[in-house]
Amino acid sequence: DWIRDPAAQAVCSMLTDAGYDAHFVGGCVRNALIGAPISDLDISTNARPETVTDLAQNAGFHAVPTGIEHGTVTVVVDGAPFEVTTWRRDVETDGRRATVVYADTMEEDARRRDFTMNALYAAPDGEIVDPLGGMEDLRARCVRFIDDAEDRIREDYLRILRFFRFHAWYGDPEGGLDQEALAAIAALSAGLETLSRERIGAEMIKLLSAPDPAPAVATMEHTGVLHHVIPGLSPAALPRLVHLEEEHGVAPDALRRLAVLGGDDHKDALRLSKADAKRLAALRAGIGSLDAPAALGYRHGPEVAEDIVLLRAALTEMPPRDGYRADIERGACATFPVKPGDLMPDYEGPALGDKLKTLEAAWIASDFAASRETLLGMA
Ligand code: ATP
Ligand code: MG
Repeated sequence: DWIRDPAAQAVCSMLTDAGYDAHFVGGCVRNALIGAPISDLDISTNARPETVTDLAQNAGFHAVPTGIEHGTVTVVVDGAPFEVTTWRRDVETDGRRATVVYADTMEEDARRRDFTMNALYAAPDGEIVDPLGGMEDLRARCVRFIDDAEDRIREDYLRILRFFRFHAWYGDPEGGLDQEALAAIAALSAGLETLSRERIGAEMIKLLSAPDPAPAVATMEHTGVLHHVIPGLSPAALPRLVHLEEEHGVAPDALRRLAVLGGDDHKDALRLSKADAKRLAALRAGIGSLDAPAALGYRHGPEVAEDIVLLRAALTEMPPRDGYRADIERGACATFPVKPGDLMPDYEGPALGDKLKTLEAAWIASDFAASRETLLGMA
């Protein structure tokens, strides 16, 4: 139905009224065909970026040169962004990003993409154009490299991770992966080390957000890919974590899954945001602590506490205690009854901080039962 959206139609009309081609392409077409949610709308055209910019401005739309060196202009209509990219074909590459020149046909544009299921186009009236047989692969839920897998990977090693990402999201969980692709991936996985950490991080987060990324991650381990993403990652506990998430009705979460893979220094390896790095550090500290669920709830709040309970269960293969959520909630609602003023002027400076910490630990150990008077008596 997004295809009938007036803003999307306005961008297409702006191009077609001026005699240019306009087709939706990529993830929006793929996901519409399989009934999956759509994240962003990409439009392909034979109009050059300068022309797209002029047409957009004449129509009163905002045009932002978001990726002008790749031929992409973002056209904003009523606050909604559309990525309009000129048909292009790949020429020489250094394996990190393909260099591009503009193409004369849609089929050429299709051939520079990564997988057949990502090379599907839809006209503004919804008619599908499938230059490379992507429909058949999509129907079979098969992620297939366009033409030769080795060639595609050498052009851009990120496609290795994209292969696993699309398999995790849209692949047939029962059906095997394309053997030729896996052989090419195993042979070329060291090329991942040449990529920027930002690109790797963004792709890994998308992969780990899939409903069940465990089979894909296991295959990444077998093919040697995982080791080139971050050395020391172990996928053994991931299937158990995914199972626990389902059992307890907890939504998929990439950072929680990352935490169960172990390894260290994810912050730099994946260029995580400050907030993500902080949460991951809390998860890892929680896994290693002896805090019971109530203490976790008090220290970290209910969400992170539940993450830690599930992570521990996945890693130790021991199910979480019944009623752990009520325990977490109890801890999250508890308020430490001693205030710094209660200990002054007997304690000051660093000694005050230390004393408060000791009393807080005793109060947590009493399962939040010790009263203010008891605690002050201890001091
Ligand atoms: P989603 O937006 O749902 O994550 P998508 O398929 O739209 O999935 P994008 O990264 O938005 O993925 O890319 C849009 C399209 O551009 C892809 O469908 C694919 O055709 C092409 N593309 C993107 N990145 C690459 C790449 N590294 N190599 C080849 N083609 C690519
Ligand atoms: Mg997209």
